[in-house]
Amino acid sequence: MSESFPTAPRITTGDVIGQPDFTRLPRFAAPATFAALPAPGEVSDLDVAIVGVPYDSGVSYRPGTRFGPAHIRNASKLLRPYNPEADAWPFQSQQIADFGDIGVNPYNIDEAITTIERSMRAVLERSPRLLVLGGDHSIALPTLRALHAVHGPIAVVHFDAHLDTWDTYFNTPILHGTPFRRASEEGLLDREACMHIGTRGGLYAPGDMDDDRALGFATVRCEEIEFTGLSGAIEKLKARVGQRPVYVSVDIDVLDPAFAPGTGTPESGGLTSRELLTMLRSMNSLNVVGGDIVEVSPAYDHADITGLAAAHVGYEILSAIAPAVDLSSFRTR
Ligand code: MN
Ligand code: MN
Repeated sequence: MSESFPTAPRITTGDVIGQPDFTRLPRFAAPATFAALPAPGEVSDLDVAIVGVPYDSGVSYRPGTRFGPAHIRNASKLLRPYNPEADAWPFQSQQIADFGDIGVNPYNIDEAITTIERSMRAVLERSPRLLVLGGDHSIALPTLRALHAVHGPIAVVHFDAHLDTWDTYFNTPILHGTPFRRASEEGLLDREACMHIGTRGGLYAPGDMDDDRALGFATVRCEEIEFTGLSGAIEKLKARVGQRPVYVSVDIDVLDPAFAPGTGTPESGGLTSRELLTMLRSMNSLNVVGGDIVEVSPAYDHADITGLAAAHVGYEILSAIAPAVDLSSFRTR
């Protein structure tokens, strides 16, 4: 590119190519990838792939999460190389690339789910780990199919106000309230090791929880966190999943609507963003092979509140995956 069209060099540590040098490029002029990270064509070996899935044909109430990936990426421009609470360098200790969005058929659920699974399998041929930007929660099912093919049964750590283990609505089996029932039925999950965290709000009947347990989930409801604190929840989580391959699925509605108004099925009484980020940070000793951030619906957002929360969720997941590397003498500005 000529001098007359200024760009910035990317920060590099060893072979890892990270963010642009933001002392030489305004963040608001940064590439539209997550945290302005490279596209796959700019790097060779990959540790983590970011993939957008602008799909919302499986929602039951407010729509609009098809615009979620772009909204999360736009809110991610302020993320910086060093995460002090995690003592991690998420963008410099591992090679990340943002693959952009999967183009899926918005009129045909079966075709969309097949396309997503096929695309995730292709991405996994280049990268051992995934971070998915949704999209509604249906997209966890094809993602888990692809991850299962590589890693075998997966321990899902599911942050959500809702269980998402319902059976059908309108006789439709694959939608945003059912991905974990389908995944469990298909044998994709380790039924000894899955967990819901942040569950709240009404059920259809007490028996819903019996179904849910049989599908392989233990549950820490928001009410419990109020009394045991975060450390109680973190202890249970670590004991439950051990060193199994973990998929961390974050429905942004696990946050209270005060922290995430831009979502489709909000429930009062949720987590604060600080509580959620702290729990995600605690997962750095686990074997996280993939994750998602779903149900961000920008039309209901205000001042990017939900987008910012989602961007920071991505930051903490990438930090939890990041290998411990001492880059303390490294300066990015
Ligand atoms: Mn939910
Ligand atoms: Mn959900």
